[in-house]
Amino acid sequence: MTDAFAFVDLQAQRRRLGDALDRAIERVLARGDFIMGKEVGLLEARLAEFCGARHAVTCASGTDALLLILLAQGVGPGDAVFVPAFGFVATAEAAPRVGATPVFVDVRPDTLNMDAASLERAIAEASRLGLRPRLVLPVDIFGQPADYPALQAVADRHGLSLAADAAQSFGAHLDGRPVGKLAPHTAVSFFPAKPLGCYGDGGAVLTDDDALAERIRSLRLHGKGKHKYDNTRIGLNSRLDTLQAAILLEKLAIFPEEIEARDRIARRYADGLADVVELPALGDGIRSVWAQFAVFVSERERIIAHLAERGIPTMVHYPIPLHLQAGYRDFPVAPGGAPQAERRCRSVLSLPMHPYLEEERQDRVIAALREAVIRNPAD
Ligand SMILES: *Cc1c(COP(=O)(O)O)cnc(C)c1O
Repeated sequence: MTDAFAFVDLQAQRRRLGDALDRAIERVLARGDFIMGKEVGLLEARLAEFCGARHAVTCASGTDALLLILLAQGVGPGDAVFVPAFGFVATAEAAPRVGATPVFVDVRPDTLNMDAASLERAIAEASRLGLRPRLVLPVDIFGQPADYPALQAVADRHGLSLAADAAQSFGAHLDGRPVGKLAPHTAVSFFPAKPLGCYGDGGAVLTDDDALAERIRSLRLHGKGKHKYDNTRIGLNSRLDTLQAAILLEKLAIFPEEIEARDRIARRYADGLADVVELPALGDGIRSVWAQFAVFVSERERIIAHLAERGIPTMVHYPIPLHLQAGYRDFPVAPGGAPQAERRCRSVLSLPMHPYLEEERQDRVIAALREAVIRNPAD
């Protein structure tokens, strides 16, 4: 067996950043402003500038970024929040966390992003159940922005607000417009393995809406009013640590180059694999950040084992659709169900993807997957 390697190699990036990261951390340690310190404000300005949003408000995680958007809009009991059935549980979690009801929408079989026709049916179903349709919450799965023009049109037709779960897609574009400008409000995550990750938990809300940004700045600090002990609303403790902001500032400086590298690797994978496995489609005008590079295979367990024997790590994002998770089974699903989400959960497989994955390793992944699939002509 050849050497095994990492699915996401954070140490390769650390080596590249060299002592810049250590110095950034030491500056915070020397000052001691660990909570809402200098780098938090600096990072917010840089994030806003990076994507062209008027406001970037940092918080403790991507999960909290979603929660803060719902709290700031007063989403609560009786409200329906429309979420895709394929993805990570945090998207579905936000609605019940504020007493609202998640309603699951099927995804498109090609991009795995929210399907506008299923959304239409889900909105009708929510009304039929006596819920108040409130918010559409698409996910930019694997780093590819959802079809915002189509989804926004549905939301507008029904008078609903729309927010993006861009936990996987900060840095991506649709028709030249960056994530952060594709939806009125956008949640991002800085979990270490995301395309732009820190060394712990972190997140942010991006918006052009002055009033919403102001409410979120208050909510993340216990509903702060004019000063620390003036509390004008029920908030929570959801701040990004100054240390994490300092780390993110260093990483943001090299992020554009890292996005280029991810794109090069994705193209090399696609060139080497498109004739033997089905790949998710990239929509027109999309620039993905490739949080994951996914393929669809039959006999997934056998393929995972074949790659593992050759030292190649894989992951399954995601094995169980959200509407079938034990904690979420009782919430409504669009009429017709979510058959595409269910089908794709059975065949989807993620290959190693990070900006420092060497060509030799990319070629090993391609060769091993080709070998595994061709051995079984059913794929
Ligand atoms: C990672 C992720 C989240 C949650 O982000 P955290 O920072 O881990 O809380 C939410 N939604 C999606 C789609 C994610 O991939």
